Amino acid sequence: MEKKRFSFLASIFPNRCVYCGARTAGDALVCDECAANLPRIEGPVCPKCGRGKKECDCRGKENYYDGIAAPFYFEGAVRKGIHTFKFRNYTAGAREFAREIYKTAGERFEGVKFDFITEVPITEKSRRARGYNQCRLIAEEFSDISGIPYEQGILKKIYETQAQHGLSAFLRRGNLAGVFDVTDPVKVKGKTVLLCDDISTSGETLNECSKMLWLYGAKQIYCVSVALTKAKKKPETR
Ligand SMILES: [Zn+2]
Ligand SMILES: [Zn+2]
Repeated sequence: MEKKRFSFLASIFPNRCVYCGARTAGDALVCDECAANLPRIEGPVCPKCGRGKKECDCRGKENYYDGIAAPFYFEGAVRKGIHTFKFRNYTAGAREFAREIYKTAGERFEGVKFDFITEVPITEKSRRARGYNQCRLIAEEFSDISGIPYEQGILKKIYETQAQHGLSAFLRRGNLAGVFDVTDPVKVKGKTVLLCDDISTSGETLNECSKMLWLYGAKQIYCVSVALTKAKKKPETR
């Protein structure tokens, strides 16, 4: 269903840059300007939070996940591209984002054997309102590119939460307690899981999802995201 929507929309907008929206040559998904100037996260990278050392303020905080890899900071054309992808139904971005995530994860998680990739869930209500879960589209494309199996809906979001931005770190954590659950424990036990998000701010959503996977016996949990906010920047709503 969601795949169909993707192809359908991609065929309506074949020649737009998925980041800035400018026309591109042929069927390219990225314009030359963006290709040269995207806000990439470049090394040395903090192994805990996935940001460049200068942008890290995680102070080596321990998480339920084993690592996070993201190609970009959430700013400039990447910010625009993710917004268009999320809120304006321009889902052609999923393929391009997945390709970027694949490159970055390949470097950071070299040698890790993943059993499957799944997505950070949104509530059923949000999914109906938007028509798709944007993280799921990326996870599916990632699976297609990498050959790592995709498992749909391993996690579910039980109820809607207050937007994470504007809350202190302490309240953010409390805001998410008990919000996520594992739908199929048998699929999780003893497995190495790759969890896909679109934007990660404090990492609390990924951490809470990872906690549930860990509680159900996942062996290792790694996270990928299209973009990370720089430290202390205003986070995004989901
Ligand atoms: Zn562009
Ligand atoms: Zn860090």
